[in-house]
Amino acid sequence: MEKVTHKFELNEGVNPLALAEKYDAPLYVYDGAIIERQFNRLNNAFKVPKLILNYACKALTNISILKFLRQLGAGLDCVSVQEIKMGLLAGFQPSEIIYTPSGVSFAEIDAAIALGVRINVDNLPLLEYIGQKEAKIPVCIRINPHIKAGGNDKISVGSVNSKFGISYQQIPYIKQLVAAYAIKVEGLHMHTGSDIKDVDVFLQGAEILLNLAMDFPELDFIDLGSGFKVAYKTDDKITDIDELGVKMSERFNRFCQAYGRDLTLVFEPGKFLVSESGYFLVRVNVVKQTTAKLFIGVDSGLNHLIRPMFYDAHHHIVNVSNPKGEKKLYDVVGYICETDTFAENRSIEATKVGDLLAFFNAGAYCFSMASNYNSRFRPAEVLVYNGVDYLVRKRETFEDLMLNQIEVDVIRGTDKLELPELAILDLEQKEHKK
Ligand SMILES: *Cc1c(COP(=O)(O)O)cnc(C)c1O
Repeated sequence: MEKVTHKFELNEGVNPLALAEKYDAPLYVYDGAIIERQFNRLNNAFKVPKLILNYACKALTNISILKFLRQLGAGLDCVSVQEIKMGLLAGFQPSEIIYTPSGVSFAEIDAAIALGVRINVDNLPLLEYIGQKEAKIPVCIRINPHIKAGGNDKISVGSVNSKFGISYQQIPYIKQLVAAYAIKVEGLHMHTGSDIKDVDVFLQGAEILLNLAMDFPELDFIDLGSGFKVAYKTDDKITDIDELGVKMSERFNRFCQAYGRDLTLVFEPGKFLVSESGYFLVRVNVVKQTTAKLFIGVDSGLNHLIRPMFYDAHHHIVNVSNPKGEKKLYDVVGYICETDTFAENRSIEATKVGDLLAFFNAGAYCFSMASNYNSRFRPAEVLVYNGVDYLVRKRETFEDLMLNQIEVDVIRGTDKLELPELAILDLEQKEHKK
């Protein structure tokens, strides 16, 4: 484990006040330089003949981010057919995309096969289904190694009770199906969970997969998933990538010798690549002293960033309008009409209405989990690189909220579509440009 004292400073080139002035808030900002740093860090840590880093794009699915990661040299890990299509639009070749679904329909599997991407098989019926197909396609098999790892239960996906993968104890069934249908197994995969601090957990999982690999002679790659941890708090322990790189490379190279061929080592990081690149900028709507607490109410809520409420996640918060201000203890809360607390008793620089707060680690599982709850707009997204800021997603408008809604009059029994008065839309837009 790596002991760090994390500083949480904004990179030069990311000026939150100027960006919020230009694009308005709430706003997601991603620093391309950090994504690049993280990609290179992981890429350089492993000394193996062939390494592939597939970006797990559910963390942050903006097409410009996908394109940027492709240009850095990443492949793509997708969990839905829609993510695959975005990856293809971003320029990834089908062979550079692996589809790792969990409990999807055979119809969606067929759609993914038609798009030509690699298929990661997560259950025995699916393995049989693919085996029975006339056109043979190679598969990767997701093994559940029964290792309990990960930051919390929701993201700990490799344990005996987890829905993911084919249980390690069901390997005889895998072998039966593979033999019966002459399936080419091109890869073995595991992903034990997110936020794994301990390098040994990765090594344990790898040990299980590499031993199993000896029974599959047609392999091209071993995919060890992800779970690399980054710092969310000042003194958070993080995955020691360099230690992992040294130990895993040694083990993997030894495996390749025993196997008789050089295979590709694959990882599929999400959080590690994009978490620290992101800042979520919000304006302070209200500062409110109650008899018990001092609240900062911001123009956002669990609709934009649900991790604190969903996972008890900690996001470092700085008042970028008053960065040198004296610190006080605040509860930072959203505007949603149920409890949406971003931070409790948090030490933040003295804050007044109109100030801009920056939430750190807002790159992974933040915008991609955002919703329109309370009929609020989802924020805009900006990517900064080489001193230039690029708008990569427009802020939503009232029209977006109404886009797929169909107004019917069930009392009169008509289904006449009555669009909202244009005057209302105009008003909304003016409101927004302010
Ligand atoms: C979500 C996911 C990842 C990425 O996990 P991180 O903790 O964000 O790195 C990798 N592989 C699979 C199969 C996933 O579902």
